[in-house]
Amino acid sequence: MNVRDSEHLIAELNQQEPYQITDELSDADLIIINTCSVREKPVAKLFSEIGVFKKYKKPSAKIGVTGCTASHLGKEIIRRAPAVDFVLGARNVSKITKVINTKHAVEVDTNFDESSYNFAEYRTNSFKAMVNISIGCDKSCTFCIVPATRGDEVSIPSSLIISEITKSVALGAKEVMLLGQNVNNYGRRFSSSDEICNFTKLLQQISMIDGLERIRFTSPHPLHMDDEFIEEFASNPKICKQIHVPLQSGSTAILQKMKRGYTKENFINRCEKIRKLCPEATISTDIIVGFPDESDSDFEETMSVLNTVRFEQLFSFKYSARPHTEAMDFDNQIENSLAGERLTRLQTRHTQILDEIMDSQLGKIHRVYIDELKPNGKVSGRADDGKLFFIDGSEELLGRIIDVKVTRTSRGALDGEII
Ligand code: SAH
Repeated sequence: MNVRDSEHLIAELNQQEPYQITDELSDADLIIINTCSVREKPVAKLFSEIGVFKKYKKPSAKIGVTGCTASHLGKEIIRRAPAVDFVLGARNVSKITKVINTKHAVEVDTNFDESSYNFAEYRTNSFKAMVNISIGCDKSCTFCIVPATRGDEVSIPSSLIISEITKSVALGAKEVMLLGQNVNNYGRRFSSSDEICNFTKLLQQISMIDGLERIRFTSPHPLHMDDEFIEEFASNPKICKQIHVPLQSGSTAILQKMKRGYTKENFINRCEKIRKLCPEATISTDIIVGFPDESDSDFEETMSVLNTVRFEQLFSFKYSARPHTEAMDFDNQIENSLAGERLTRLQTRHTQILDEIMDSQLGKIHRVYIDELKPNGKVSGRADDGKLFFIDGSEELLGRIIDVKVTRTSRGALDGEII
């Protein structure tokens, strides 16, 4: 979502005057740091980065801080780092051309509604398009700062989504990644239309777009994963068979304290339904360890879900107490060292599972969409189920969907040859 926000920032700036991206800090006239604030670490990193940029930038170059940390710290950023010229919160992206010309501008309104704003076009990779389908988040997960930085959840009108995807397909994209905090809650609220549409219907409409071959999305919420949606996921040939189902914890007691709205059993039931209707699907997840009050047996419940579902990708984090969240004030915060031990155990077990999955891939054939040129005569792309491939080849393979046989396996990516 942040990568897409960065593309929107560039698109809007280019409307005013053409910009070029540079890798050389000392060449830049404008430096934008687009921030996350989900955990504490990136926030600390922001201030050290501002220091580095201030030291090595051109004296006339402007520095802007955008994104979620901008939303929640606001003018405090300029107070702590006066070298910053402007602060622009997530959900205020369309105001970029305004703030770059106003010294010390701060625009961080989390009620600002960009759901029907027609952003200018810019893509870092023309072969695949990221498209927002909703903004904000209506959940009240007790660990999460996102609702405070991205505001209430509003769905983007389907006509706007369809026209954006159609445009990107005409410019060469065969794959779309639909983005939202809870994509399968799509249609819960539109800002002004009386449109009635849910995520399943949206997927059906998108899959009618000529020339679009692959649809991905992130993230669905386990609570909204109804049978109708899973059936569409399994049966629609344009929907890639990779799904991210964020678990957070395997303990029902902890899930309740997190206000996630599902139990361990509900979660496993949804994953089993996916596997039953679509055995080839890969399932990935997010897990937080060391949430307040997490006991050894709560953690064992998380390990048991990992062993049952055997997630192919795991994004795992130590719980980080965040401002504007309920859990920040919970008793029984867990010692950092204990959270660290649990994280290591979880990741070690996941690595074993991943090795087993990857080892079983040798000789298998996947349809891979080649979308990036790599150094040393290689190209890369993803299989329908999300596996990353490196293949010998050059530019003429870009934009092609081809059958590839796995010739070497590793944890991160597979080597393959075209058949
Ligand atoms: N809307 C998504 C969450 C997006 S944030 C969802 O409901 O799943 C991405 C991930 O960051 C979350 O899934 C969670 O695992 C992690 N995360 C969020 N807040 C966190 C916190 N306070 N500490 C540690 N990890 C956190």
